[in-house]
Amino acid sequence: MEDTIAAISTALGVGAISIIRVSGTKAIEIVNSIFSKDISNVSSHTIHYGFIVEKNEKVDEVLVSVMRGPKTFTVEDVVEINAHGGINTTNKILELLLVHGCRLAEPGEFTKRAFLNGRIDLTEAEGVMDLINSETDVARKMALNQVNGKVSSMISMLRDNLAGIISNIEVNIDYPEYDDIKVMTLADISLQIGKIEENINKILKESQSGEILKNGIKTAIVGKPNVGKSSLLNRLIGEEKAIVTSIKGTTRDSVEATFNFDNIVLNLVDTAGIRDTSDLVESIGVSKSLKLIEEADLILFVLNYNEVLSEEDYVILDKLQNKNYITIINKIDLDKKIDDSKLQNVVYVSALEDKNIEDIKLKIKKLFNLDKIKTDDLTYLTSARSKAILIKVLDSVKAVKDGLIKDMPIDMIEIDLKNIWNLLGEIIGESYDEELLDELFSRFCVGK
Ligand code: GDP
Repeated sequence: MEDTIAAISTALGVGAISIIRVSGTKAIEIVNSIFSKDISNVSSHTIHYGFIVEKNEKVDEVLVSVMRGPKTFTVEDVVEINAHGGINTTNKILELLLVHGCRLAEPGEFTKRAFLNGRIDLTEAEGVMDLINSETDVARKMALNQVNGKVSSMISMLRDNLAGIISNIEVNIDYPEYDDIKVMTLADISLQIGKIEENINKILKESQSGEILKNGIKTAIVGKPNVGKSSLLNRLIGEEKAIVTSIKGTTRDSVEATFNFDNIVLNLVDTAGIRDTSDLVESIGVSKSLKLIEEADLILFVLNYNEVLSEEDYVILDKLQNKNYITIINKIDLDKKIDDSKLQNVVYVSALEDKNIEDIKLKIKKLFNLDKIKTDDLTYLTSARSKAILIKVLDSVKAVKDGLIKDMPIDMIEIDLKNIWNLLGEIIGESYDEELLDELFSRFCVGK
């Protein structure tokens, strides 16, 4: 990290201002060499008005912020040049900085330095990336929780507790004669491991809800032709996006629509009616529907109140087991012919008369545990990396529990405890490998 790095931190284009950020031991010295005023000895966290100059010629009128480490984002000396927006001027200033000894920063390199210098941990760094990419209020709030270290502190706490147990076990093993040190009993370990399991499950569950709040629920509407799927979709999204017709099998391809209620996003796909058919185009639709059931996070299975259940309906019901689904019985404005005694998760509606559509929304919230969730205190982990590690932690937790049940020697159990401690460390980046870091930070934009 000897290099002093520079990059344009604002989006490149025509704007009111643009910011060029410089970080590293020579940040102040290098900017000083192209600035009209001497900033070499100014106090930290001060702003200076002047000109960027090249061979006595003014390039731009700027404000230069001087921030000396360690109280900066990267912990290093940081200088930010506020220039007039504009591609040409901004690039020119960057070019001058490079000529005078800066290296062009790689994507995410400022944040990477913040991490390597101990200013933030990995989950917080990932939160920064999410914050940049957040598109909704909810996503922004959740990312901010992560940047502020909410998940990190929970993981650090679990890890510290675990370190306490491990060191206690080691003392018990190595110095059995010390009788003033608490002897770790299997019950003590069991209690702690239970806490870890509970917390990890909480993080995973809330992360799943967080994921849903952030990316939406991929929702497939399935059912035989003519039961009212398109009509229902239209009611849900409140616009005529799907074509409604009384001729069977018109919705041959998927219609995509996004529908948002109470901060929950449903990404709807209207599927072709599922039925046995020799019609080629229709059968493409059918296989697509079956595939959609596999892929969807939520299936709205639509049935006709005015029709008896058919064999096809039972086939679909069978496919829906172990999935998140809601059975929507439509056309309740007509006479009842359906035998609904064995159906589960049922909502009765009339798309035609706009009846009980709200009940579908309530049911969805319940199904995904979104009815009680408060986004403000969600312990939400965004990265697939961290989640994969947490699953491994649960495996080791299970190994410890098995060991306790089987009365295994305590030094064997300790191996799994250490493993959990290491894995938790990987999440917050206490241990990492270079390749992982490069991969992770390369997903940032340049200048961040
Ligand atoms: P899809 O093939 O499942 O997408 O069904 P459509 O949405 O195209 O609807 C088929 C027919 O059923 C159309 O004539 C709709 O007007 C009618 N329909 C839809 N919902 C209702 C309802 O709640 N009650 C009644 N009576 N007819 C409905």
